[in-house]
Amino acid sequence: MEKFLEILRQYWGYESFRPAQEKVIESVAGDKDTLALMPTGGGKSICFQVPALAKDGICLVVSPLIALMKDQVETLRSKGIGALAVHSAMDHKTIGITLDNAVYGNYKFLYVSPERLATSLFKSKVAQMKISYLVVDEAHCISQWGYDFRPAYLQIREVREIIGKKVPVVALTATATKEVSDDIMEKLEFSSPNVIATDFSRKNIAYIARECEDKLGNLLAVCSSYKKKLGEGSGIVYCRERKRCEEVAALLKSSGISADFYHAGLGKEERNRRQEEWKKGRTDIIVSTNAFGMGIDKADVRLVAHIDMPDSIEAYFQEAGRAGRDGKPSWAVLLWNPADCKKLRQLVSVNYPSIEYMAQVYQYVFNYLQIAYGDGLYSTRKFNLSEFARNYSLNAVSAYYAIKYLEQEGYWELTDEIDNPSRIMFIVDRNDLYSIQMENSVMDEFVKSLMRTYTGLFSQMVRIDEEYIARITTDTPENVKAKLLSLSRRKIIRYIPQIRTPMMIFKCERLQENNLYISPKRYTQRKEQMKKRVEAMIGYATQSAICRSRYMIEYFSQPVIKDCGVCDICLKRKNAPSAKSIEKTIAEAINNSKDKRLSFLELKKLAGPQNQDLFIEVLRDMADRGILTAGDDGFRIA
Ligand code: ADP
Ligand code: MG
Repeated sequence: MEKFLEILRQYWGYESFRPAQEKVIESVAGDKDTLALMPTGGGKSICFQVPALAKDGICLVVSPLIALMKDQVETLRSKGIGALAVHSAMDHKTIGITLDNAVYGNYKFLYVSPERLATSLFKSKVAQMKISYLVVDEAHCISQWGYDFRPAYLQIREVREIIGKKVPVVALTATATKEVSDDIMEKLEFSSPNVIATDFSRKNIAYIARECEDKLGNLLAVCSSYKKKLGEGSGIVYCRERKRCEEVAALLKSSGISADFYHAGLGKEERNRRQEEWKKGRTDIIVSTNAFGMGIDKADVRLVAHIDMPDSIEAYFQEAGRAGRDGKPSWAVLLWNPADCKKLRQLVSVNYPSIEYMAQVYQYVFNYLQIAYGDGLYSTRKFNLSEFARNYSLNAVSAYYAIKYLEQEGYWELTDEIDNPSRIMFIVDRNDLYSIQMENSVMDEFVKSLMRTYTGLFSQMVRIDEEYIARITTDTPENVKAKLLSLSRRKIIRYIPQIRTPMMIFKCERLQENNLYISPKRYTQRKEQMKKRVEAMIGYATQSAICRSRYMIEYFSQPVIKDCGVCDICLKRKNAPSAKSIEKTIAEAINNSKDKRLSFLELKKLAGPQNQDLFIEVLRDMADRGILTAGDDGFRIA
């Protein structure tokens, strides 16, 4: 472990492993096939990255989404670790070079998207590589029993055959029922079953689900009281929609609470600024869509509140889990009402448009991008969803889900908006620039700031950030952009303003109508899976019998835990009158009544509204045991 700790400190700057990481690393370093079950944000990547750095050879990582893959590779590179990626947004030649680098170069990681595994080029190159580990990230994608089965993942078996079973396989996932875990290990041909699961329980988080018509009123009450109950610390409020984030933040502010909003509609610079303010504790509460929180490790989050119901326990557990990383008491509050349940159930049919519809959307996408049958393989195009939908008179939401479904099937990948930063370059030389600058002192100052801030402006296109320039020149981003445009009109610079566009990456060529096959069996399975997930989430909120921690742990098929003792259900139970005391109350009330007799309605009033069920149970039990007799005129003591 010492050796691994050293690597962790050197490259990541972290002091220690989390307990679950230690267990997984031990198993992986012992070259055992390992399935690690750890919640999202639990730190799965380090579990293979650290042992791979300590071992000879290159670590092969299969990961489902190109966007995630790029992110991981960039993170590794920024630490000075040699990492490569091969995916369908790359042209054939670059892939060839990259694979050669993986064979001959000094690289520690090669990330591959699953659809690339089947190619003969990859197969021949991988046979020449010295592989340290075969890592399967999001391993539940290999199981058709999981909620995100991706057929391309089945190719991993062939890779395992080529590289030999001596190379240990490391499978990682946040969600796997027993059935899925077994399936993963079987599909990946584990030499012996070996699941290492984190303890999912979070003992310091008090989960609360509150049914309420007036969500905002409740939210206000929670946000203004959490510090009094729990001590200093921050809060996160999750909403589904961007606009709602803005409204809720405004409401909190108007009530004197320190709050701000955050969503993907804000520029990158602005998002960073708001995140920093919140991290430093200058803003107490951040109201956000689920865009917030990726990679956030703030220890003293005391409150995570949801005013819209997430669509799965997985999502809820992950978001709520951002509370209380420091181990101190914290709240995870879900405010809901029956309208949420209805909306979630509707979401299932929205998420799964009919197969015919999806087949139609498939062809429309290629028409829209003017890609002919048989073409398009491994190409990447800008994709404007709302324009696309408008052109073909489609409902944008349904079209989106059709595209996402076909993504799971492995035809393409639609990335979220990708920030392509603005770039500039001077197209006059330094001397000419000097004479131009003299004309106008404001422009002069501006150009000088550009040259002070960025290097290489005379020789190449350089990435710039208008918001950053605005800050250092104490100007507005709009003015900065106007100045850049003016320079560009005067042919002093070339200026390519930032675009934020979603991209469509094609993993297969365009198929003819009759060659496109969308498996009805898989479709039904996936839809059923989503129904189950949604019902489990609704069940979490609406049920009142099982400790909320336990409900989630059991959902994840984790070892059963004791009741947490701090969720609303456990607390209610603790504070509820016992059956014995109710029995005593009933007996006394009857004895004290005028005719030693009380009607059912009179008795029912004795119980608080919270305790009706238990009360009726006790009444029935007393009658069964012959302590009470029930007549037409009411209950008497026998
Ligand atoms: P997962 O894949 O399980 O969702 P990641 O591997 O992406 O999680 O890690 C989540 C975050 O936790 C990352 O920001 C990572 O740097 C951080 N992290 C992981 N291990 C540790 C550790 N031992 N100490 C501190 N931070 C850690
Ligand atoms: Mg991960």
